[in-house]
Amino acid sequence: MHGPQSGSQRQTVSLAARDVTFSYGKAEILKQVSAAISPGRLTALVGPNGSGKSTLLSALARFITPSGGVVELDGQPILSQASRAVARKLAILPQSPPMPEGITVFELVSRGRFPHSGLLGLWSEADLVAIDAAMAMTGVKDFADRPVGGLSGGQRQRAWIAMALAQETPVLLLDEPTSALDLRYQLEILALLRDLCRQHGRTVVIALHDLNLAAAHADEMIFFRQGKVHGAGATSDICTAAVIEAVFDIAVDVLNDLRTGRPVFVPRLPGEGGVDG
Ligand code: ADP
Ligand code: MG
Repeated sequence: MHGPQSGSQRQTVSLAARDVTFSYGKAEILKQVSAAISPGRLTALVGPNGSGKSTLLSALARFITPSGGVVELDGQPILSQASRAVARKLAILPQSPPMPEGITVFELVSRGRFPHSGLLGLWSEADLVAIDAAMAMTGVKDFADRPVGGLSGGQRQRAWIAMALAQETPVLLLDEPTSALDLRYQLEILALLRDLCRQHGRTVVIALHDLNLAAAHADEMIFFRQGKVHGAGATSDICTAAVIEAVFDIAVDVLNDLRTGRPVFVPRLPGEGGVDG
């Protein structure tokens, strides 16, 4: 895979949830969630299954309308902004995007250009450069002309990520972007996302259920439990055994990766005792 496109401009756009509440029927899924996403950083949203990570990302991308509170993008309520304007600032890759029927990888990735294109189906030079760069970064250029339906799960996942990258937004939200990938591509995608932040000033938020993957790569982490933020901060500050044990309801030992200095969590099996035993 290649590095992020060098031409992309540094443009900082703020994103924050303030007291956001959301329910499905009577079940309150987000409970007064406040989270300010740090610009130019890779933030991982981490928590158990069903804790509300995907729902929060949906609210941040205005797929859903909170019953209380506000999401602010670029300092303005996201719901007061035109869709095209939002789509130029923020791209989202949902956890289970609908399977596109009968289109090629190129066609899928080119859909990411919708907020930039003029006439439908006519690509400008800038569109083609962005599509090509996004496919190169995610290693899907070789499959450009193949139908998305005929790809492996991991190849398809990378094509979806390419679509989000082709949108060339300053803010990128990705829901479990590494879930279908083998270890090598998990690492390559995370390295790519880190590069987008460090070298291109992009703001990236990923929902991840894999705690160790998040701790190894994220600049900042937001811990989610039962629809609430349990803690948030720089990875090295927030990743304590006490936080992990409370959020995941397990006993863990915290080690240090000697090479990177990053925390590594080793869960204890039931019956192995708590932190002290
Ligand atoms: P996570 O991404 O952390 O696994 P989700 O945000 O997907 O969690 O889900 C949070 C809660 O909301 C879960 O209890 C889930 O069952 C519920 N939920 C999610 N989507 C819907 C829906 N469309 N209708 C009803 N309940 C939903
Ligand atoms: Mg989810």
